[in-house]
Amino acid sequence: MSVANKMKPTLESLETIRRGAGIPMQEVIGLFPFFMQNLDAVMFDCDGVLWMGNNPISGAQDLVKKLRTIGKKVFFLTNNSTKTREEFLEKFNSLGFEATLDEIVGTSYLTALYLKEQNFKGKVYVIGTTGITRELENVGIESLPIGPDPMPADMHTWVSSLIPIPYLDPEVKAVVVGFDHHLSFTKMIKAASYLRNPNCLFVATNTDERFPSGPEIVMPGTGSIVNAVKTAAEREPYVMGKPSPMPFEFVKRTHDLDPKKVLMIGDRSNTDILFGKDCGLWTLLVFSGVTTYREIETWKVSGNAYEKKLIPDFCLNGVENLLALINKHGEVVHNANDN
Ligand SMILES: [Mg+2]
Repeated sequence: MSVANKMKPTLESLETIRRGAGIPMQEVIGLFPFFMQNLDAVMFDCDGVLWMGNNPISGAQDLVKKLRTIGKKVFFLTNNSTKTREEFLEKFNSLGFEATLDEIVGTSYLTALYLKEQNFKGKVYVIGTTGITRELENVGIESLPIGPDPMPADMHTWVSSLIPIPYLDPEVKAVVVGFDHHLSFTKMIKAASYLRNPNCLFVATNTDERFPSGPEIVMPGTGSIVNAVKTAAEREPYVMGKPSPMPFEFVKRTHDLDPKKVLMIGDRSNTDILFGKDCGLWTLLVFSGVTTYREIETWKVSGNAYEKKLIPDFCLNGVENLLALINKHGEVVHNANDN
């Protein structure tokens, strides 16, 4: 064995990195090239990591490009339910990201796939947008019309008018709840009423409480809507998005991935990081979105087991810092399997 080989770190050296310690990635500097060499794939959350709304985050496009050139597979796992995969692909392209359809996993797509694989027969009542209804349509599943459905000013007259008229569509066999900026009391009544039937499936695209939106405004996310419906329905939904392992299981169908060789990058601990840890992936939290440095520091001294689980392996201010680390090490971070 050559001296160079003796000096080379082993896979066990990676175990010296304390998992779930929430350390700045720059602090693993000695092991960083070896860590990168042994990664096969990087999974990105999108909003708050690659872009904020319609604005790319600094360094994001270049990082994705760089990861491809050093031999990593790249996947984009978004909990956002407002677009189909094709529409997400358009967004990636318009913002200057290289991506292909099979690298994008959205929760509307997962919802449609899930119902199809349940051999679902019937119609779907959707609280959500065309992202969901179009994906359902793509797999041949019919849904009721979406859009504004406001409660008339005189609610009591409206409610009494429902009885005894058969108001609910008897063919509805599933309720899907995603993001819907037209959420109304009327929609909650309908969803919860359909869900009185225990055979009616209840699917939520995701449970993110808020959208990343900057410091001045709170933008309620799908989780706020899901919680309203599940409280009224007194039922728990089957959730498609992170932290549910569904997105990783979907990617694994077509790509043979070893979780120990996958890095999940996210901006939200209770979805992205929890998902990554539950699936056995490495986790990196970036502070360009929802979860803050202060929260990580609080969880580090917390005695609460759930909060401890929200601490990532690594953290960085943003994806451009990861790009800088990779560039600093040059070609030594190239995928070990490609040597
Ligand atoms: Mg995010």
